[in-house]
Amino acid sequence: DRMISGELQETDQDIELSLRPETLKQYIGQDQTKRNLHIFIEAAKMREEPLDHALLYGPPGLGKTTLASIIANEMGVQFRTTAGPAIERAGDLAAILSSLEPGDVLFIDEIHRLPRSVEEVLYPAMEDFCLDIVVGSGPSARSMRLDLPPFTLVGATTRAGLLSAPLRDRFGVHSRLEYYETEALCSIVERTADIFHVEIDLNAAVEIARRSRGTPRIANRLFKRVRDIAQVKGESVISLETTQEALEMLQVDAEGLDYIDHKLLKGIMDGFRGGPVGLDTISATIGEESQTIEDVYEPFLLQIGFIQRTPRGRVVTPKAYAHFHREVPGT
Ligand code: ADP
Repeated sequence: DRMISGELQETDQDIELSLRPETLKQYIGQDQTKRNLHIFIEAAKMREEPLDHALLYGPPGLGKTTLASIIANEMGVQFRTTAGPAIERAGDLAAILSSLEPGDVLFIDEIHRLPRSVEEVLYPAMEDFCLDIVVGSGPSARSMRLDLPPFTLVGATTRAGLLSAPLRDRFGVHSRLEYYETEALCSIVERTADIFHVEIDLNAAVEIARRSRGTPRIANRLFKRVRDIAQVKGESVISLETTQEALEMLQVDAEGLDYIDHKLLKGIMDGFRGGPVGLDTISATIGEESQTIEDVYEPFLLQIGFIQRTPRGRVVTPKAYAHFHREVPGT
């Protein structure tokens, strides 16, 4: 597992639950989304209705699940969770839906991975709070409508583009979570340190924040490793020096890049004079699948402007050259 992957890893699980903010106020950053949700939640509460169905999208580790649980908390209802790949048959979803209490928040992670037959059960459930089921078979089969309690569906996806239009259109609230600024991540690291009853120097917290790729999950993971090393050294306040040393050891560089990012960037710089070069050619050169490069490795490098997509392929930017203290070829 990569140290700087936003995906949930087994070793994150022991800390994540204790770190999960419980109210909108405790949820750091994402100000636009928070402002909107606050208004929708207050309005729904005044009308004594469940909140509109909400779709949260954005890269892994930015706080979609956390936000969904906060919505339930703020509405004062139960939080039920499942995930697209966990629901194989229409009946599985029907069972979950019919077990909901009025007002409950049902969270479906990776909602783009719901099988189409299951998705179709969701349409009337979301729109009219009912289930259409077929009883019997053959000529005696007939269709029945079952009422469901009103509920709020919160869907999360890393790939909003993969969602079918009919499903997407049934969400009243659409919120895109953004990568976090260093300042917000720094507050998250400080909050985490607080919860662990550990002191951390402000510069050390900033250093962790800078290398966390805009992602709270990564910030917390790096913090945990840095804390372990400070503890072994017997440091009472985690220092900048120890933080840098620890991150060096973990092979996370000043921009939060690891060996895979280096392999990708250097592959294009060394093999193709910085590009443009096609995805499949890069894939063959560095021995990683095109799809993985596109979905997993590339988004952050595009985000920080180290790679650009052009009609003729990928280009490594002058900013990336500067990061490696190299001259841009032909300049
Ligand atoms: P996602 O569902 O988008 O993959 P999660 O909601 O599981 O991400 O968030 C990962 C972890 O990051 C959470 O356990 C939480 O501790 C932390 N986290 C996420 N967003 C925030 C935030 N805005 N403020 C504080 N901590 C956060």
